[in-house]
Amino acid sequence: MARREVLRMGNPLLRQAASDFTVEEIKTNETKELIQDMIETMEAEEGIGLAAPQIGILKKLALVGIPKEDDDYELLIVFNPVIRVIDETTAGCWEGCLSVPGLRGLVERPQKIEVEYLDDQAEPQKVIAEGFAATVFQHEIDHLYGTLYIDRIKDTKNIAFTEEFLKFHASDED
Ligand code: ZN
Repeated sequence: MARREVLRMGNPLLRQAASDFTVEEIKTNETKELIQDMIETMEAEEGIGLAAPQIGILKKLALVGIPKEDDDYELLIVFNPVIRVIDETTAGCWEGCLSVPGLRGLVERPQKIEVEYLDDQAEPQKVIAEGFAATVFQHEIDHLYGTLYIDRIKDTKNIAFTEEFLKFHASDED
């Protein structure tokens, strides 16, 4: 296992669309190593999600942390995800990104979605994600299409450094 370098905003690789995995590719040892490296990298950086393009791999693979009670989370390994919005109603969440270090921004996204994907055994899965989990899914899947959360901030007044976010805006959230 090895920790990988997380690319930062400005790197053109973060702006390209990723390609699908084949079932055979998901089952290779190379892909298993890639997943382990991504988990190690994400945990070292204290992220709650990481997409393969963030370490320069232009393939549709993302780690998605689903928050649980008492600060824990369940980590989903998601290949070739496809989103369907179940409820168009949006809510704002102050997002951060390992590729945009030191900043937070308020992004409005639908809060109830269905995601179809292949798991690490290449088995098809379907989950419904709501609230913050829906945000994490959409944020990570955006990375697979070259989109950063910064692109989705409607009002640039809602961009803050992390320190100022914690000081002035964190209490906006419940
Ligand atoms: Zn991100």
